[in-house]
Amino acid sequence: MRLANGRMVLVLWIGTVALSLVGIGRFLDESITGLLFAKISVGMAALAVLALIVSITATVAWARRLGNVSADGSRTVSGRRRFLLGAATATGGLIATAAAALVRPRGWLNVVSPAITPEAPTSAPEPRSEWEGARVQSYRRLGRTNFEVSDISLGSGRLKGDRGEEIAREAIARGINYFDTAPDYSAAGSELALGRAMQGHRDKMFLATKFCTPTGHLQPGSSVQEYIDVVEGSLKRLQTNYVDLVHVHACDTVERLLDPNLHEAFARLKEQGKARFLGFSSHTPNLEAVTEAAIADGRFDVMMLAYHHGAWPKLAALIDRAAEKDIGVVAMKTLKGAKHRGLLDFRPEADSYTQAAFKWVLGNPSVGCLVISFFEPQHVDEYLYASGKQLSDQDLAVLDRYDELIAGKHCFPHCGECLDACPEQLAINDVLRYRMYFEDYGDEKEAMRLYAALDKHADVCIGCPAPCADACPHDVPIRERMMGAHQMLS
Ligand code: SF4
Ligand code: SF4
Repeated sequence: MRLANGRMVLVLWIGTVALSLVGIGRFLDESITGLLFAKISVGMAALAVLALIVSITATVAWARRLGNVSADGSRTVSGRRRFLLGAATATGGLIATAAAALVRPRGWLNVVSPAITPEAPTSAPEPRSEWEGARVQSYRRLGRTNFEVSDISLGSGRLKGDRGEEIAREAIARGINYFDTAPDYSAAGSELALGRAMQGHRDKMFLATKFCTPTGHLQPGSSVQEYIDVVEGSLKRLQTNYVDLVHVHACDTVERLLDPNLHEAFARLKEQGKARFLGFSSHTPNLEAVTEAAIADGRFDVMMLAYHHGAWPKLAALIDRAAEKDIGVVAMKTLKGAKHRGLLDFRPEADSYTQAAFKWVLGNPSVGCLVISFFEPQHVDEYLYASGKQLSDQDLAVLDRYDELIAGKHCFPHCGECLDACPEQLAINDVLRYRMYFEDYGDEKEAMRLYAALDKHADVCIGCPAPCADACPHDVPIRERMMGAHQMLS
């Protein structure tokens, strides 16, 4: 009986550890990933917790019955020994259960640990004295909105909390009057921080947000009320009665761009004075198709596009066509992959790269402004030093050197031209974009969250004969970069 009890305790602990591995591990992983609570698997996790309680109870009962009963009713194993054996077994079981729970989300330990530092710094390690106190020097008309916006404007994907609010306040004090935000930036932390920073300045600002929730995009077919509700949520967080611009967020399909419910919702919001202009933002690979459709559609007042030196030759023509229709153009992703601080051979030029890249973008008169992510106080000085300045030969040399160093190594346009070559239908452009967020932007958690949300991951590249080998017009070694991305992001 005693042996049977002992075996039973062992079996219970093995079951508990297994349930912890699949149940609690999955629960932790999905929770950290940021899924909506309704989508997190709690059933198996609850079963694991129940199994844990049963195992501890059975261990206590087993330990208390250890040893034979003597004639006087006492046991041959002393009470102290039984206690120690029971405690040791339960502790061992608990440690094994906890370890099993951490197997699946172990990658997150690298992300949430405060000790981790990005591979590359995200601002100049030694800021130049001439940058100090830089202010906006130029305002440009943003198409038919008729608003004169700061040429270098504040992107807020990584702003949050008191620090984010301070950076935004400083940006306003230095002349920035265009804020770009979205509910899913820092899980609504960006809108909250900007809302506080804008108090007393709202009337001077041009404020753009996006149709989405703090946890993700709205899909085509969402109801008119859902579209309205997300903007109402933004207004509350931003502490304002209206936004100047609402974008269709990261729009990669014409279907999302032209969703009739979205347009109906915008029309109602506009009528109620809660939103003034409609726009869209777009990344690759369908950027061109989406932009073409938006220009032809005629209802869009502003477009925010990935635009940087040397890439997307057709994009300049699209931007000009949009400008002819008086559609305001906002440039984003202007740093062409932001690899400048991670390139050892680029150290001498890295400090002036951001400013050279901005000047190149703003050299196109059809661009109203560029939006760049401010998330360190030093960015205000570093970025605004380029405001109003002309591109020089020296800047062009810096940009050429950057192009030379990233050639054949770095996926910067995320153009998707390689997608058809992959039999696994991997979203190569997205995977390599998330790698960039991790490796170059230093935004590890967001990169891992986005990667985790993909349907398919780059572990399938292991053992693949790589028919994608020659598919990249920029000679990126796709398989190698994808396998590295998987290791980094999972
Ligand atoms: S790997 Fe090459 S083809 Fe594929 S998305 Fe990146 S740049 Fe484009
Ligand atoms: S190596 Fe990876 S990306 Fe390339 S074809 Fe195979 S699965 Fe697709």
